[in-house]
Amino acid sequence: MSALHLHCSTLFDGTGLDVRQQQTLIIDNGVIRHVGPTAQAPRPVAGDREVRGDFVMPGLVDVHTHLAFGNAQSEEDIDIWTSDEFRALRGLFFAQHVLAAGVTSMVCPGDSGQLSIAVRNSVNAGLFAGPRIAASSRVITNRQSLNDWFPSRVGAPEFFTAALVTSRTDAIAEIRKQAKDGVDLIKIAMDGTQRRPNGEIIAAFTADETREMVEEAHRLGCRVATHAYGREAVMYAAKAGVDLVFHAFYMDDACIEALLEAGTVLAPTMTFPQNTVDFCQPHDPAITTGYAGYCARTLEVGTPVLKRAKAAGIPFACGSDSGFAVTPYGEWHARELELLVRRLEFTPAEALFAATNVGARLMPRGETIGTLEPGKQADLLILDGSPLDDIRILQDRNRLHAVYKAGEPVNLQRTAYNPKQVSDFNTLKWTDLYTRSRVAELGKWSQ
Ligand SMILES: [Zn+2]
Repeated sequence: MSALHLHCSTLFDGTGLDVRQQQTLIIDNGVIRHVGPTAQAPRPVAGDREVRGDFVMPGLVDVHTHLAFGNAQSEEDIDIWTSDEFRALRGLFFAQHVLAAGVTSMVCPGDSGQLSIAVRNSVNAGLFAGPRIAASSRVITNRQSLNDWFPSRVGAPEFFTAALVTSRTDAIAEIRKQAKDGVDLIKIAMDGTQRRPNGEIIAAFTADETREMVEEAHRLGCRVATHAYGREAVMYAAKAGVDLVFHAFYMDDACIEALLEAGTVLAPTMTFPQNTVDFCQPHDPAITTGYAGYCARTLEVGTPVLKRAKAAGIPFACGSDSGFAVTPYGEWHARELELLVRRLEFTPAEALFAATNVGARLMPRGETIGTLEPGKQADLLILDGSPLDDIRILQDRNRLHAVYKAGEPVNLQRTAYNPKQVSDFNTLKWTDLYTRSRVAELGKWSQ
């Protein structure tokens, strides 16, 4: 097979924080065979292709994308209005948008049915384009977890994105079922719905329950990720040896110690609350209910403790929480790097390292991706301009010159879609209460 010779003006190979100038990568059969100075690189032979790139780096890894959610505007959108079959087709479609945004690998923590397993398998089989996927199934939830968001008399039917467990036996059985179905990771909703008088979130599971679930998942070869804003949730997750913790905005220094000891990767996923703060309009329920204000406070509280976590040496990865209306697929994946730089004072090189090298550790066969070295898969981005000068370049489609997955160029053209036929199937018709006085106030009626 003919080889691809990629000549880079600047190469960030993801093994560390440095860049090198005038390098050549030789890619054969999807795998990098050679990396070195262009002047000394083996010459192309007949049939080889040559490509030139300005700034070359590994493909992005987004460790927090929900393929099932479909750009949801509400929890009902996530769980009620669509079938698993429609969600799978929609997820497959949007996986292509994610890839076209430069995300060559993504972790899907929390799905319905076997959606991300099916998308992963069909991409791996070559049926459709898409990023590499670390698949999960329904989020393990109990009566106290945030994902049990409907009233208890509704519960969590089979087609919901949460698996409601009401005993330790149920939890272990659900983990065994998901492992049998072929998940790469188990997601646990660790934040509870109850709060202490001081406002602190009470963890949904006890420390012992958490440890038992994580042990069983690890025994069966699955990784474990948890949603955890609260101090107690982060602490129990860390003590149980969870692989990936999301958010951690309300943790304390003892949590940082515990995360360090466990070797847990932290993905604060600031994009979701930051987009909510920055983009919502006055009529959005996120504004009228005060949710956007909560997001703003959460970011304020979280920023100093996340900075201390970084200083302590906790590995950070990048997640976007894509799949909500405020984080549509293929749009905001690289914004997390900007937020690491802007809010947590990462250098741009540190942000690139988080979004490539560290993120790859959460992927199946992660040792074969995340860096550009001989023997690794040729998943890479070619950018016009350097994200080390301006990290926001990664969000500029005009600067994303090319995306390669396994040595092959990705189609960056995105098929347009009708957002109104994708999600937002709710039946809401009025957002106000039209009493006589309210209508008079609006000037629409007078006695
Ligand atoms: Zn999420």
